[in-house]
Amino acid sequence: MNELLGRKGANLAEMTGLGLPVPSGFTITTSACRRFYEEGKIVHPDIEKEIYTALHTLEKTTGKRFGHPSNPLLVSVRSGSSTSMPGMMDTILNLGLNDYTVAALAKHKENKHFAYDSYRRFIQMFSSIVLGVDDDLFEDELEKMKRHASVQQDSQLTADHLLDLILIFKEIVFKETGQKFPQDPKQQLITAIGAVFDSWYNPRATFYRRIHKIPDDIGTAVTVQQMVFGNLGPNSGTGIAFTRHPSTGENELFGEFMFSAQGEDIVAGIRTPQPMTVLQERLPETFIQFEKIAQDLEKHYRDVQDIEFTVEEGKLYVLQTRSAKRTAEANIKIAVDMANEGLITREEAIMRVDPASIVPLMQHTIDPNAELNVIGKGLDASSGAATGIIVFDAEEAERQHRTGHSVILVRQETTPEDIHGILASAGVLTTRGGVTSHAAVVARDLGTPSVVGCESFKVDMEQRELRTDSITLKEGDVITICGSTGRIILGEVPLVPPKLSKEFCTLLEWANEFKTMCVYSSVNTPQEAELARRMGAEGVGLCRTELMFMDPERLPRVTRMILAHNQRERKKALNELIPLQKSDFHGIFRAMEGKQVTIRLIDPPLHEFLPNPATLALELERARVAGDKKVVEEKEALQQRIETLHELNPSFGHRGCRIGITYPEIYEVQTRAIAEAALELKAEGITVYPRIIVPLVSDWREMKAVRETVEETLQQVFSVYRDRIEIPIGAFIELPRACITADKVAEYADFFIFGTNDLTQSTYGFSRDDAEGKYLAYYLDHNVLPENPFIYLDEEGVGNLIEIAIERSRKCKADLKIGVCGEHTSEKDSVFFLQNLNMNFISSVPQRVPCARIAAAQAAI
Ligand code: ADP
Ligand code: MG
Repeated sequence: MNELLGRKGANLAEMTGLGLPVPSGFTITTSACRRFYEEGKIVHPDIEKEIYTALHTLEKTTGKRFGHPSNPLLVSVRSGSSTSMPGMMDTILNLGLNDYTVAALAKHKENKHFAYDSYRRFIQMFSSIVLGVDDDLFEDELEKMKRHASVQQDSQLTADHLLDLILIFKEIVFKETGQKFPQDPKQQLITAIGAVFDSWYNPRATFYRRIHKIPDDIGTAVTVQQMVFGNLGPNSGTGIAFTRHPSTGENELFGEFMFSAQGEDIVAGIRTPQPMTVLQERLPETFIQFEKIAQDLEKHYRDVQDIEFTVEEGKLYVLQTRSAKRTAEANIKIAVDMANEGLITREEAIMRVDPASIVPLMQHTIDPNAELNVIGKGLDASSGAATGIIVFDAEEAERQHRTGHSVILVRQETTPEDIHGILASAGVLTTRGGVTSHAAVVARDLGTPSVVGCESFKVDMEQRELRTDSITLKEGDVITICGSTGRIILGEVPLVPPKLSKEFCTLLEWANEFKTMCVYSSVNTPQEAELARRMGAEGVGLCRTELMFMDPERLPRVTRMILAHNQRERKKALNELIPLQKSDFHGIFRAMEGKQVTIRLIDPPLHEFLPNPATLALELERARVAGDKKVVEEKEALQQRIETLHELNPSFGHRGCRIGITYPEIYEVQTRAIAEAALELKAEGITVYPRIIVPLVSDWREMKAVRETVEETLQQVFSVYRDRIEIPIGAFIELPRACITADKVAEYADFFIFGTNDLTQSTYGFSRDDAEGKYLAYYLDHNVLPENPFIYLDEEGVGNLIEIAIERSRKCKADLKIGVCGEHTSEKDSVFFLQNLNMNFISSVPQRVPCARIAAAQAAI
C-alpha cells in the first residue's frame, strides 16, 4: 500500500504485522494530502474527525491519554511519500507536550532531565517547522547554554540548564510570532499534520523530485506514532544501520548509534554518532536482538535495508525500514551476492543494476606506478582521468576532436553554450566554480572526467595561454587531469583501463545468459579493439577509417591525395596509404579473431583533413616574410583548395558515400586494404570476418554504385591473392530517405546498421553540435520536448522511421541482419525499444559495452 500510506507508513504497518517491536500508531493517507491542497491548505473537519477517532484507538492501545496531566500520550508526526525522499520533508517529535504534561513526565526526580530535554526539543522542532521560526535562533541558544555549562554534548546539560532553555525558547517563539507557544495538544496535532502535508512543497523536496523525476501531485502520507524515548537515560539511544555496507556492499551490519539522543540528532547530521559497537558493548542483548531483526527484514524485503531504530531503557523499537541507497559498486556486489545466497534470482540481480549507474566505474584511471609532474590541484568534479591537448573554446575542442585529437577543454567557467565542446572533449578543466557548477554537472552527466575551480591557474584568452606561477601552457600542449583526485598533471600520463570487480564480471556473464541481441563495439584503433574485447564485445560493430588518416605521419600523404589535380595523382598518393591502413586492419582483425569486424568506408568531408585556415594563414605569412618561395606556393595551393572545398552547410555536405561516388578511387583503395589484410591473416591461419559498410546512403542508386566499385575491387584482390574471403557489404542508415526506401536499398545491401546519432540529427533537422547549447536546453527546461533525443531515442519519430525501415526491408529480405550504432545503445529505455524491434545487434563504444550488455539482458528479461 505504498501509494496510499507512503513507503514509511506501509512498511511500519507491514513490520507490525510481522510481529516486530514497532510503536503503535496510524497513518493518514496521501489522498488526504491531495485533499488538503485541493481545499486550500486546510485539514478538512471530516478528516479531523477521523484523526480523533484513530487517536482514541491509539490511546486505548497504549493505555495513555493525549494531553493527560498525569499519564500523557506523546506522538511523532512523520512524513513519508510513496517514493522515498530521505530527509526532504518534515517530521515532528514529542508532540503532546505542554507545561502540564511535561510536569507529568518530570514527576520522578530521575526523569526531570529527560522531560525537559523532550520539551525543549519539541518547542524547537514545532516552532521551526510549524510556526516558521528560524531554527538557528534555537541552535544558537543551545550552543550558548553548552558553552555556559562548559559541556561538549547536548546530553551533558543538566535538568536546570534545560529548564532555562525552555524558557528562553518560549520567549523566542513569542518574540518571533507574537503568540505564546501553543498549549493545546489537539491544536498542536492538527497544525503539525497540516505542516507536514505542506512540507511536500518545500523547496528541498520540490528540487529533489525534479532531479529524480518524481511527479509533483502524489503528495505525502502522515504517520502519527507513539513516541519511544532514546533520551530516557544512559541505557537509551537511537541509531541507523544498514544490513550491508552501503559503499562496499560487504555483507556486514554497518551503522551508527548515539546514547541519550533522539532520532533527529543522527538523521539531521548535526551531531556526531558513534559506531554500532558502542551498543554491542553496553547492551549486548539488545544488539543481538537488533542483528536478528535486521537479517529478518533483509530476507523479508529481499534487499539491503536501511533501518532507523531507538532503544528505550534497553528495549528495542524499530521505527523505519527501507531499501538502502548505495554506491554503484556496492549495488553490483549486493545483487550478485544475494543471487548467490539464493535470496533473489539472477534475473532480479541483473534488473537491479541500472546501466547508467555503472558509467563512472568504467573510467580510466592514472597508472599508480606513473611518475607525475603535478602542476595544480582543483576540485574533483567528475571521476576518471583524461589526457589530451589543451583547447580554450568549444569550437576548437570540436575541431580538434574531429581531427582525431583527445582534447581537454580549459575554461574559466563553462556555460550552456559550451556543451558541444564538452561533448567533444575527453576532459574538462575550469579555473572557477565548485562541484555543482555548470561544468561539473554536465561532465558528471556525460561521464566525462572533470576538475573544476583550479584557482591557481589563470586562463588568458587573448594570448590563448594557461598560466600558473611557475609555468605557461599554450593551446595544443598536453596535460592530464584526474577527476577523482583533482590533480592536474603536465604531459601525457599512462592511464590504466577500468578494473572490473569479481562480482561485476559475474553479473556480466549472467547478462550473456539472458540477452538475445549481440553487443558489438565501435572502435577506431587496434588498442580500442582490444579494450572492447576485454569488455566483452562480441565483435566490432563499427570501425571508422578516417581516424587512421589523422595520424600526423600519414596526414601529409592524405593532404597530397586531397590536393591531387587528377585521378592519377590521387591514386598515387592513395597507394602510399594502403600499407598503413592495412597494418591498422591487421591489428583490429587480430584483436577480434573469430569475431565480426565491420569497417566503415570514409565518411567525413575531405576538408576536415586539411589544416585550420587561421593557422595556415599564419604559416603563409611567416613563409612570405622568410621569403621561402616553395613553402609559399605549397601553402597557397592548400589555401585555395580549402576555399574550393568550403561548404555552407557541412553536415549535409560532400561526405559519406558521396565522396566514394565522386572519387571512387578512395573507396577502391580502402577496400583493397581491407581485403588484403583479411587474406593475409587468413593465410596465417587467423579467422577473420570482415564486413564493409557504406556511410550516409540516401538512395538505392548510391548503394548500387558503391557496391559495384567494392565488388570489382574485391574480385581484383581475390585474383591477385588467389584466395577469397566473404566480405558482406552493408548500408549505414542515417537519413530518413534511406529508411522510407529501405526495401530498395536492401536489394543492394547484405546488412543494415542504423546510426541513431545522425538519424536523430537528420530526422529532427537538429544539428547536435549547436542544438544543445542554443535551443535544446530551453526546450527541455520548458517541457517543449520531454527528453533530449540525442540521449533517449525518440520512439515516436526516429524510432518509427527505424520500424518502417525494418518492416519494408525484411519484407524483401527476411533474414537481413540489422543493428544499431550510437550513444542510444547503452541507454536503458532506448535498448528496450530496440529489443522490441527485433534488432540483431547493438554497438557501443568500448567503455559502454558493459552498460549495453546489462541493458540488453534487461530488455530480454
Ligand atoms: P525522515 O523521513 O526524515 O527520516 P522520520 O519520520 O523517519 O523522518 O523521523 C526521523 C527520526 O525521528 C526517526 O529516524 C526516529 O529516530 C525519530 N522518530 C520518529 N518517530 C518516532 C517515535 N515514534 N519515537 C521515537 N523516535 C521517533
Ligand atoms: Mg526516517
